[in-house]
Parts: sequence; C-alpha cells; structure tokens
Amino acid sequence: MRYDAIIIGGGPAGISAALTLSNMGRKSAIIATDYKDSGLYKAKRINNYPGAKAISGEELLTLMYDQLSGADGVTLIRGLATNAVKNKKGFMVTVGADVYESSVLIMAIGIGGMELLPGEAEMIGHGVSYCAVCDGGLYRGKKVAVIKLRSDCDEDIAILKRFKCEIIEINNLEENLIRRGDISCVFIFRKSLAINTFMPGLKLSNGINTNIDGVFAAGDCIGNPLQIAKAVGEGQLAAYRANEQLTANNNNYL
Ligand SMILES: Cc1cc2nc3c(=O)[nH]c(=O)nc-3n(C[C@H](O)[C@H](O)[C@H](O)COP(=O)(O)OP(=O)(O)OC[C@H]3O[C@@H](n4cnc5c(N)ncnc54)[C@H](O)[C@@H]3O)c2cc1C
Repeated sequence: MRYDAIIIGGGPAGISAALTLSNMGRKSAIIATDYKDSGLYKAKRINNYPGAKAISGEELLTLMYDQLSGADGVTLIRGLATNAVKNKKGFMVTVGADVYESSVLIMAIGIGGMELLPGEAEMIGHGVSYCAVCDGGLYRGKKVAVIKLRSDCDEDIAILKRFKCEIIEINNLEENLIRRGDISCVFIFRKSLAINTFMPGLKLSNGINTNIDGVFAAGDCIGNPLQIAKAVGEGQLAAYRANEQLTANNNNYL
C-alpha cells in the first residue's frame, strides 16, 4: 500500500502530523504500537496543555485518537515498524510481514526504548532481531534467546515455538548479549526501536529536518523539552515540511 506520508509513532507528535496532513488532503499512514506505549499514557495529571484542564494522560490520548479516527485519508496501522529504507520512489517501511510505501517519512517515535542493551549495538545485523514474523523462520530448530520488553509478545513467542526454536528467556538485562555464544539469535521484543536500529544512518537532531532528504522528525525524539505542546507543534510543522516536499515533487494525490 502506498501513501503520501508514513508517520512512525502514535503519540501526540504523530497524531498531530496526521491530522494536519489530513486537512491538507494528503493520504497518510500512522504506524504505532499499542497506544499505552506513548509517554503521554503514563501521565497521571496534566495541567499545562491548553484546553484540557487537569486531565489524565490516558484521557487526553483517548481524545486525540477519537479525533484521529474521524480524519479523512488517515490509516492507523498497529504494529512495530522494524525497518525503513529509502529508494528512488521514496520509502519502504516494514511492519511484521507487511511493507508500506510512501513519498515522505515522519519520525515521531518518542524516547521509549532508545537505550540499547549491553552488546546490542555490535550485534545488529549479526544475530539480533526485533521481529519473530520477519526472522523466526531463519532460526528454525535453533537455540534462541528472548528478551521481553513489552507485554504483548505472546504471538511472537508462539511463532518461535512453531519454528521449534529452543527458547531461553533472558531476564538479567545487564548481561552482555555478545557473550551468549551458544545462542543463534537474540530476539528483543521492544515497545520501540532506537532510531539507528531500523533506519541505519538516520540522525535526529534538534530540528524537524533530518540528515536524510524526505525524512522529518517531531516530538520527544528530537529533544527537550519533553512536553505535549512541543510535540504537537512539531508534529504540525513536520506535516507542513512534508507537504511542501510533496508539492515540490509533484506528488499530489488530490
Ligand atoms: C509520567 C509522565 C508524565 C508526563 N507529564 C507531562 C505533563 O504534565 N505535561 C506535558 O506537557 N508532558 C508530560 N509528559 C511528557 C509527554 O507525555 C511527552 O512529551 C509526549 O508524550 C511526547 O509525545 P511524542 O509523540 O513525541 O512521543 P510519545 O508520546 O512517547 O509517542 C511515541 C509513540 O511512538 C511509538 N513508536 C516508537 N517507535 C515505534 C516503531 N518503531 N514502530 C511503531 N511505533 C513506534 C511508541 O510506542 C509511542 O507510542 C509526561 C511524560 C511522562 C512519562
């Protein structure tokens, strides 16, 4: 499926970007793990977001998703984006066994899960995976390790069992993964992925533009202050920049 824009992350920044792109007549897909993974969900009481006095994070997020569900041209895809690559036509983003395409990409991934485990960085591409659907079959009958950093990974583990993997669960997160020589692959089931893990070379700095043409970023993932109002504003700005680029490239689906 092809969209004008793919937005990765379903917190305030991603939702704001999607709503503004909808108002601009653009087709977008917002790829997001469970809504409870947003930093906002954890906030007990919010007093500094205009128009919503003494509201809980969960309530505010629910209002945002209600608004999103009525927005034209927005498709919500629930899942973890595990890979994003650029090609001549734009971008290809992988979620489980599915691949989605777009002309531009907006990263609104928050800061959850940005910290890598000891040894993880060195293992990327050499025996670490974030997705049983993508890689489980490669380790059929082998001994694999599983690290559960999100609650909803039962299906991923069921897939590994279907492939007759011998599963070792690692609970000690201080353990250096590289030292586990007897294990063919370490499956790390995260809420989100560090940016370099799924889009090699991408650098997020304190701004909407990134070092990759056509990739924009918004919200907590580009830095302080980690606040809802900033995330919402940057989500909108990222949508404007994305729209300008789509227009400049004659990528108009209206
Ligand atoms: C306890 C607490 C209290 C807070 N109180 C306040 C407050 O009072 N006022 C205030 O302004 N701010 C507050 N904040 C901060 C506020 O919640 C954040 O600034 C805001 O949620 C940032 O929005 P975001 O969209 O950038 O990121 P997030 O809301 O974190 O959303 C990012 C989303 O992207 C998803 N994601 C990441 N990677 C992927 C991937 N690869 N594939 C699919 N989905 C992915 C994540 O799962 C997550 O759902 C608080 C935060 C916490 C934790």
